[in-house]
Amino acid sequence: MTGEAQLGLIQRDRARLWHPYAPASPDLPLWEVEAADGVRLQLRGEDGTRHEVVDAMSSWWSAIHGYRHPVLDAAARRQLETFSHVMFGGLTHAPAVELAERLVDMAPGAPGRPALERVFLADSGSVAVEVALKLAVQFQTASGYPQRQRFLSIRGGYHGDTFAAMGVCDPVDGMHCAFPGLLAGNVFAPRPPAAASATPESIRAWESELEEIAAAHSGELAAIIVEPVLQGAGGMHAYPAECLTALRQVADRHGLLLIFDEIATGFGRTGELFAADHAGVVPDIMCVGKALTGGYLTLAATLCTGEIAAMVSAGRAGALLHGPTFMGNPLACAVANASLGIIDDGGWRADVARINAGLVAGLAPAREFGAVRDVRTIGAVGVIELHDDVDVTAVSSAAIRHGVWVRPFRNLVYTMPPYISTAADIDQITAGMTAAVAHVHDGVAARSGGVG
Ligand SMILES: *Cc1c(COP(=O)(O)O)cnc(C)c1O
Repeated sequence: MTGEAQLGLIQRDRARLWHPYAPASPDLPLWEVEAADGVRLQLRGEDGTRHEVVDAMSSWWSAIHGYRHPVLDAAARRQLETFSHVMFGGLTHAPAVELAERLVDMAPGAPGRPALERVFLADSGSVAVEVALKLAVQFQTASGYPQRQRFLSIRGGYHGDTFAAMGVCDPVDGMHCAFPGLLAGNVFAPRPPAAASATPESIRAWESELEEIAAAHSGELAAIIVEPVLQGAGGMHAYPAECLTALRQVADRHGLLLIFDEIATGFGRTGELFAADHAGVVPDIMCVGKALTGGYLTLAATLCTGEIAAMVSAGRAGALLHGPTFMGNPLACAVANASLGIIDDGGWRADVARINAGLVAGLAPAREFGAVRDVRTIGAVGVIELHDDVDVTAVSSAAIRHGVWVRPFRNLVYTMPPYISTAADIDQITAGMTAAVAHVHDGVAARSGGVG
């Protein structure tokens, strides 16, 4: 036995590991997961205390069918007994082909006449975004516009942590200032008005600003990239679906491709299969990830039109210039096929509607808190927005005492529960969220006229 083995797991972690957006610190707040089943996690604290909690995060929005789902477990086991991985250069396999066909069939477009017909299998959401941006630049270059190398996005977006993806995230709230020499100067339009308070006038005003910015830069822009209808990690901002129609028109008017990053919104989360479906808008390129494997394995995909695929392939490079080692990992594809099979069965629509009703009712009391600026929901997403930044450690610890796992960020305490959550699970989540906010923040940040 080494000395390290005598220490608790959490102490060993703190000595050796990084965590997301966290310092290397001997004090980092951490909980050990001892088991996960259905919507529940079994947590163990540093002092040995155990808590059973409902996972209100779906493990960062991915575990939509819950943990240890028998259909997903069986798919993983079956593929494990066949083969776990082979390279994708020069080789193919049934799980990848089936997955591409499923994605093309589900993606926005006329039924039976797929618009997005070519699929690149990436190993994470950020890589899927990198591939989308490369596709756009290679398409423009092959079309005779090699000077179109920049991107137009909207403020408040989040598209991943790799450099090109970071470069289209919100330039202020994102991480641009930490890497000033490495992030390309992209172009940003304002964030569209909030869905809850938008008026025809505010939408039109936003549209004309978008048009103006696109017109001023069109000669150097390859594509527009946005998260349709719901901006996730950039602030849980829901905006009117008709803004997607305006984005489509502006892109077409100026020869830009339209990229929808559906990594957070895809597979039913906002109440339609894809957020693009709220407006019936078809992008030229679409990224999916997160829930693609039901949260089992890392996998993402970039879909594009046949026209883009043909143009990129006919360009001077003669190929799409990307190819990860673990591209099309068979184990991940097999689990994704099982997860999409559950989605195809269609129960998600009723689940998401039921969850939305539970979130609306359960989060309403938080509107009365002085510390709360706004409460909003869209599909299976519920958000409590505070006036000030959340005390993340205090709020998540308080929620754990109420049997709920949440991971707030900035001034947002939110939930994206698994679709299998029962009405009682949603009640537990909303009660835990509101109790934690009341316990930690209410009264502290009370201010006049603060309830929006
Ligand atoms: C999470 C996310 C990404 C990045 O995905 P990773 O798998 O974390 O690389 C990109 N875009 C959106 C909209 C996301 O929510």
